[in-house]
Amino acid sequence: MSYDPNNVFAKILRGAAPCIKVFENQMTLVFMDIMPQADGHLLIIPKESASQIFELSEGAAAACMLTARKAAIAVKTALKPPGIILAQANGSAAGQTVPHYHIHVIPRHSGVFLAPHATQQEDMEKLKQLAERIIAAWPECDESN
Ligand code: 5GP
Repeated sequence: MSYDPNNVFAKILRGAAPCIKVFENQMTLVFMDIMPQADGHLLIIPKESASQIFELSEGAAAACMLTARKAAIAVKTALKPPGIILAQANGSAAGQTVPHYHIHVIPRHSGVFLAPHATQQEDMEKLKQLAERIIAAWPECDESN
C-alpha cells in the first residue's frame, strides 16, 4: 500500500497537527489517543513512513514493540488497570482508520466494555492529566531505545 503523507499521524510527526505527547525517542513517538476506548489509551507510532506492518522495517518494528512495552509498564504503574491490551490493525477490513502503522495500548477492567473505536473525542484537559500521570510513571530507559 502506498504511503499517504497527509494522514494525521504523518502530520503529527512533522508538527503540522497537535498531539498530547507522552514519550519520544529516535524511532518512535507515543501520544494520547484523542478518541480513547478507555482512560489511558495510548498510540505508539514509528517515525518511519509505513502504513501497515508489511511495509515496516524490522528495526522500526522492534523499536515500536520496545516502546509499546514501556508504555504498557507506565500505564500499569500510573493507572493500575487489572488488564492491558496491545492491538494493531492492518487494513480497513481489520478496522484500521489511520494509514500510518501504530500499536494501541488500552487499559482493561473486568466487566467494563470498551468505548466504541475512534468515535467520541475526549476532553483535552482530562487527556493532559492522564498523560502527566503516565509520563511520571515512564520506566527508566536508555535514550536510544
Ligand atoms: P486505527 O483505527 O487505525 O487502528 O486507530 C487509529 C486511532 O487513532 C483511533 O483509536 C483514533 O481514535 C485515533 N485518532 C484518530 N485521529 C486522531 C488524531 O487526530 N489524534 C490522535 N491523538 N488520535 C487520533
